[in-house]
Amino acid sequence: MNQPNAFDRREFLIGTAAGSLALASDARATLRVPFQARRTQHVVLVAFAGGVRTRETFGAAGNVPTLEAMAKEGVLYKRAKSSNLGHFGAALSIFTGVSEARGIRENARGEDPTLFEYLRRDLALPASQVWISTSGGAQQTNYSYGLHPDYGARFGANTVDGDGLFNAEFKSILDAWGKPKALSNKEQELLAKLRAAIESRGAAASLNSPESAAQVEKYILEELTSGTADIRGANAADAKALRVARNLLVVFKPKLVAVVLQQADIAHGSYNGYVEVIRQNDAALGELWKAVKGDAELRDSTAFVVVPEFGRDADLNSRRGLDHGDGSNDLEYVTATCWGPDFARGRIVEDDVQVVDVCPTVCELLGARAAKSRAKRLPRLLA
Ligand SMILES: [Zn+2]
Repeated sequence: MNQPNAFDRREFLIGTAAGSLALASDARATLRVPFQARRTQHVVLVAFAGGVRTRETFGAAGNVPTLEAMAKEGVLYKRAKSSNLGHFGAALSIFTGVSEARGIRENARGEDPTLFEYLRRDLALPASQVWISTSGGAQQTNYSYGLHPDYGARFGANTVDGDGLFNAEFKSILDAWGKPKALSNKEQELLAKLRAAIESRGAAASLNSPESAAQVEKYILEELTSGTADIRGANAADAKALRVARNLLVVFKPKLVAVVLQQADIAHGSYNGYVEVIRQNDAALGELWKAVKGDAELRDSTAFVVVPEFGRDADLNSRRGLDHGDGSNDLEYVTATCWGPDFARGRIVEDDVQVVDVCPTVCELLGARAAKSRAKRLPRLLA
């Protein structure tokens, strides 16, 4: 039923219905779940990026109460070695599990498959199950899939931007809504449920017309960007990306939501501004975490992994800001925070690990294999 290589309307409907309308059992029975003993069914992977040193997170009391609370109930990796490549390449490495020495050209897709592709291919997941919410506009749509011939666009993540800009992958799904076609009984049933959900919001209409399909599209867009318009402040784009992730989790209950933050990079010109972004991003992450803990289905089945792509220099620059390029421990080692139903509680791992280890770890947790990554699963993660 869920062929992985088609962004078709049917998959989307089924995925949506399974996610938001709790028609879980039949749709999910088709998913291959090799690690049935594990409780983790959803992962939120936050690239707490823009270059964030441990000194301003776990090294400074009070800046990141959310991360501290997660660590207390989870596992903290204090020495995660980054792939020091520049923001784009280093953040992409989190998703590919490949640390490429030569770096990756900005604004282009990488050669290696991403964890989005591994998950969708191995688990035959429909497009509605794997998402990436970004803070940084067009360039960041390149995270959603790579150019490897065995993987690629047909297994890519849907990309959503906090300002309500949606990339081609997402638009192709929405476009499919507008194409009238014969519906199977199963689809009719799911449509009826969706209609009921929409009508409860006061938008009554038949769904068997392009007009009503457009209404469904509008409804979904509104749901995903709900609450983002009012977000202001130094971290507004990052906070919007986190809010969209929250909405995605509630609407679709997907396997994976990745979030890419970036505004901490204001540090090049302003140390104080950078600290403020970290504090506010931690607060926005706290809202996301709270939403998960307040959702009966997500609460005991959702894991979080939060990790910067790299840190920052040890010393201030001439503008009293912080660049990234000195090769210091502050730059090359970051702290990774993991929280979830299968993870140890209150464990601190002092051993060196790598940021790229996150990719195979998340894949394995959800029952997929990061076949092209040579990184390792994070050690001592499970309870
Ligand atoms: Zn920078």
